[in-house]
Amino acid sequence: MIDEAVAVLSEAPDIAVVCHIGPDGDAIGAGIGLALAARKAGRSAVFSFGEPFSLSDNYDYLDRSVLIPPAEFPRAPDVLVTVDAASLDRLGSLAPVAEAAGTVVVLDHHISNPGFGDVNVIDPAAAATAELVYLLLRRLQWPVDMDVAAALLTGLVTDTGRFQYSNTTPATLQVAADLVAAGARPDVIGQNMYERVPFGYLKVQAAVLDRAVLSGQFVWSVLYLDDLNRHGIGPEDTDLLIDAIRIAKEAEVAALVKELQAGGFKVSLRSRGSVDVGAIAGAYGGGGHHNAAGFTMAGTLEEVVAAVEDAL
Ligand code: 5GP
Ligand code: MN
Repeated sequence: MIDEAVAVLSEAPDIAVVCHIGPDGDAIGAGIGLALAARKAGRSAVFSFGEPFSLSDNYDYLDRSVLIPPAEFPRAPDVLVTVDAASLDRLGSLAPVAEAAGTVVVLDHHISNPGFGDVNVIDPAAAATAELVYLLLRRLQWPVDMDVAAALLTGLVTDTGRFQYSNTTPATLQVAADLVAAGARPDVIGQNMYERVPFGYLKVQAAVLDRAVLSGQFVWSVLYLDDLNRHGIGPEDTDLLIDAIRIAKEAEVAALVKELQAGGFKVSLRSRGSVDVGAIAGAYGGGGHHNAAGFTMAGTLEEVVAAVEDAL
């Protein structure tokens, strides 16, 4: 299918790129990398994601000139590329754009992706969507300069947990080597993604760890909106919290249950490998990968935790 994506993009003067709501490093890196490279290849390109449109200032080291608010995003672009979005609903308020677009190209690596585009490049063997974007850019012969490389390496670093997860393949490392050769800085990415939290985050992590519960081989905790308010940090600053919980050696599966402004909870699931948390998330309307997945659920905290424990 990559041939078809190359054919569509090589002919397209205007390209609109969208990633999933609540974007992580791969969604941002793949989206910025693709849109920036398109511009450098002489195309007009924009990138956005559905509300809430807030991005941590940890991404300030990237060239965000292609990023526009969802309200300014074209309503019916000729060519729309979705990156790292496992399903149409993950586009949030920009989902109608995919329905109105001329041609939808889906670039993703989630095994749960049903292939909701006209052209679907879905490779669960790719460590990150950014890895697929790199291969596509090479085929298109669009420039991969230091700004494009920084964005794409950010996607690879974050989705592989700094090249330590089982999705790290020789191909992943080969792409990473190419990106570093093109000028991406591993030290800058490492500092900004892993060693640069607001002071309030320390207090929030302390509260979340203090509430952690070990139930057999399942460890979980909850993040309340009140934690964020009290310590002055935003939901976009909470991506690393699950990593502090999952390291309990007794646990095969870890969950962080995050209270949502709109009501209900967002559940982040992680597995050491023996349990397919993507299947659990899928059973509750979410999705993801074997070892990292998520879903949202209405109801009380007790109900949400019981739902995960039932599935286990
Ligand atoms: P996280 O827990 O870091 O938010 O997400 C872990 C993985 O699960 C990511 O690959 C993410 O895209 C996926 N994921 C998280 N929440 C959802 C969801 O509600 N629906 C789907 N389809 N995938 C999700
Ligand atoms: Mn990803």
